[in-house]
Amino acid sequence: MGGIGTSPCDLDRQFAPQIAQLLAAPPLQSAQEYYDELIRSKKHDGIKLSYGGKHGKGVCANKDFAEGDLVLKDQMLVGAQHSLNKIDCVVCSYCFRFIGSIEFQIGHRLYLQSLGASVDGTNERHCHGSHAGSSTGCSGATNGNSSAVPQEVIMSLMDGDMSLPLTDQFCLPSVVACPGGCEEQVYCSQSCADSDWDSYHSLLCTGSKTEPSRKAALQKFIRHANETNDIFLVAAKAITFTLLRSKSMKLMNQTFCSLWKPGNHFQWASKRDIDSSEEDLFRQQIRDLAFLSLQLLKDAIFDPECAPLFSLDVYGHIIGMFELNNLDLVVASPVEDYFIHIDDLPESEKEEAEKVTGPLLDALGEDYSIPCEGTAFFPLQSCMNHSCCPNAKAFKRDEDKDGHAVIIALKPISKDEEITISYIDEDLPYEERQEQLADYGFTCTCLKCQEERPV
Ligand SMILES: [Zn+2]
Ligand SMILES: [Zn+2]
Ligand SMILES: [Zn+2]
Repeated sequence: MGGIGTSPCDLDRQFAPQIAQLLAAPPLQSAQEYYDELIRSKKHDGIKLSYGGKHGKGVCANKDFAEGDLVLKDQMLVGAQHSLNKIDCVVCSYCFRFIGSIEFQIGHRLYLQSLGASVDGTNERHCHGSHAGSSTGCSGATNGNSSAVPQEVIMSLMDGDMSLPLTDQFCLPSVVACPGGCEEQVYCSQSCADSDWDSYHSLLCTGSKTEPSRKAALQKFIRHANETNDIFLVAAKAITFTLLRSKSMKLMNQTFCSLWKPGNHFQWASKRDIDSSEEDLFRQQIRDLAFLSLQLLKDAIFDPECAPLFSLDVYGHIIGMFELNNLDLVVASPVEDYFIHIDDLPESEKEEAEKVTGPLLDALGEDYSIPCEGTAFFPLQSCMNHSCCPNAKAFKRDEDKDGHAVIIALKPISKDEEITISYIDEDLPYEERQEQLADYGFTCTCLKCQEERPV
């Protein structure tokens, strides 16, 4: 973390060589083994990793793709729904699929809306800073007026006692509780509950099965993250994921292969966000915030066998990795589909249905269609290199109802050709593109950039 003074973290000094080893690019062979196994186990037959390209690691086509073909459905390694989005959408905490029922989704949202209204007398929502996170942190103010819907109706929607017209065409999986007994995490299936438990949640659960002092420490950590920056919740998942898989330095390194894209240097803030005179101060503030968050996490789950994982250097690198490589996690809302379906009914049917649904839609306000939003890291998507004239892009189709990253071909791609996506808005002028890409640590020399480069 060059340039802003010595680290406040003792572990940074105590374990400097181990940390350096952890943060170094993984040896080619172990990276190769990791990705080969990932591609084999997830049956991603259409792609392969290449290691010797002009940009180092990249993803190539393993077969021909036509325009519009699905190239890859990549399962996230870690991800989380934005804290504020939990008011709007109840989704599986592991795969981010909407759960319960249309009635439950609407009732839950109106219920929380009414609580918010009675607590501070307003429906306005506040957006917490998310400088280090991806950009869609805030879902905006609520325009709904939940007081128009009687509390009994809201309750019976939530409890499943009241059913709305035609929701049988929009079935959602039933809610499965956390095996550790906390109320924060809910799932679409037992297999998602078990996978989440094994991957991260067994160390982060605040349920009754967690030892009381650890539970209190975890609650403090979670509260701090919710109040400052929810990227810390994703960073904690990355640490527990590594911790649960590794009880030795060697394994820790292997697990890290999956998380690190060599060549990314995090600087505690994206350069383009702020004016350079304020930059040092701003970085210092972000680092102090991260350090406090890390202390709270350490109080809860520190493991002396994996001490270097709890250093500020590693925490900072994880946050930086998210900043550069994360994709916004978006899952479209079935509540939106439902109201569109009602609106498209033949006139007489529509009139009948709207007697029931109309007041609910009014109460939800114009944000009725808010999708599940969060941030996630995808191991294979993050290996795809950038081009300003990409041949693929991330795009959710109607059938994609969970948190996977879906990569679609934008043009025909032939076998062995490199698959590229755009990290930025590729329609920006040349200078602005290069400026934004400088944050990723490279100068783009794609065909479009070669043509547009001023001489
Ligand atoms: Zn699920
Ligand atoms: Zn739990
Ligand atoms: Zn370019």
